[in-house]
Amino acid sequence: MMNCQDVVSLSREKLTLLLEEAEARYDEFRRAGLKLDMSRGKPGRDILDLNDQLLDKLTPPWKDGDVPDVRNYGGLEGISGMRKLFGELLGISPDSIIVGGNSSLNLMYDAIARLWIFGAPGYTPWSREKQVRFLCPVPGYDRHFAVTAEFGIEMINVPMTSEGPDMDVVEKLVADDPTIKGIWIVPFYSNPEGICCSQRTVERLGAMKCAAPDFRIFWDNAYGVHRLYEDEPEHFPDIFAACEAGGNPDRVLYFFSTSKITFPGGGVAMVAASPANRAEILRRMKIQTISHDKINQLRTLRFLRDPAGVREQMRRLAAVLRPKFETVATILNEELGGSGLASWSNPRGGYFVSLDTLDGCAMETVRLAREAGVTLTGAGATFPYGKDPRDRNIRIAPSFPPVAELEVAMRLLCVCIKIVGIRKLLQK
Ligand code: PMP
Repeated sequence: MMNCQDVVSLSREKLTLLLEEAEARYDEFRRAGLKLDMSRGKPGRDILDLNDQLLDKLTPPWKDGDVPDVRNYGGLEGISGMRKLFGELLGISPDSIIVGGNSSLNLMYDAIARLWIFGAPGYTPWSREKQVRFLCPVPGYDRHFAVTAEFGIEMINVPMTSEGPDMDVVEKLVADDPTIKGIWIVPFYSNPEGICCSQRTVERLGAMKCAAPDFRIFWDNAYGVHRLYEDEPEHFPDIFAACEAGGNPDRVLYFFSTSKITFPGGGVAMVAASPANRAEILRRMKIQTISHDKINQLRTLRFLRDPAGVREQMRRLAAVLRPKFETVATILNEELGGSGLASWSNPRGGYFVSLDTLDGCAMETVRLAREAGVTLTGAGATFPYGKDPRDRNIRIAPSFPPVAELEVAMRLLCVCIKIVGIRKLLQK
């Protein structure tokens, strides 16, 4: 097995030997008839089972705050206990929050649809503009890109730094181009790199001069409480305060959900916004629905209780997730450390590991893995239009498989990276 050596600068003879060794290992994996799925960031059964008590929480009383009976219509903003919990947990005002249905992505889609059809309060609907463009920090979340693509919004790649999106690039682009109407941001433990926006980045986002007066930050805090390690600081630079301080109080729409805290698809989502934006959302939302599922809000609230309850829940989830992330890191280090064939993120939280192969190798690596029975997130998925300009990024989602399966899948992935990388080097 090649271990921690600089493969990239080896002679052709040595590369050929290593390739043969990797190909022999690949054939063994193929013969094993694997069928493993690491394609999506969903929890495994081991994580879901930790949440089953939530399902026992539905007993009277049915009243919460000013909602007399959660079993009935009413309470479009959501139950007050849930708004209080989200507000305290995230350090934002409960009065800014609307609790929605089961999906924050749905709330994001609706937010873009409203801007598209009706426009921001006092501005032209985006559908009537000649062109609408969005900044997309990359690598990023494929479903964000799918929503923007659906509306025909042109996407512009923005590189990430260790402090979040590259703000020099962002500030320059938004200052000159009124067609740039928004930016996607996963502020903490980003999907897929696990990067956290720094205080400075948040301040710059709130204060930057935008040529489009109806510019919106889509602040998707999906992983804000997903710390994998106890000593990881809790930090929530306040985007509302930053926008307020910059004189742009209506700039941000803030999304969050319990999808990766309780049950994906069966969680509780929210959107928070300035008073003007919130009033606009409620005005439109009340035409869409009479009220959301407050029964699920109540049982989720009873299960999580308060911010301390959420932290306790996250510690239990982290105890299962951490060994999975550590398995990924250990195998990548053993197989590829120092080889020069790949680099990867070492996240302290969130749900993903981001891996870069040599340029031009990601698609072929994912294809080889699939042929041997391991399905990964498609190469390119982390970029707008599914096009990774350097064809090198692969998103690893360690949460679903049990550790034993993850070990096999990771070994195979590393073998595929070696085969494709060394073949590329030999072509030169
Ligand atoms: N945002 C990000 C960044 C995500 O990774 C995910 C889940 N994969 C979502 C949103 C989806 O959240 P929800 O289930 O609340 O729609």
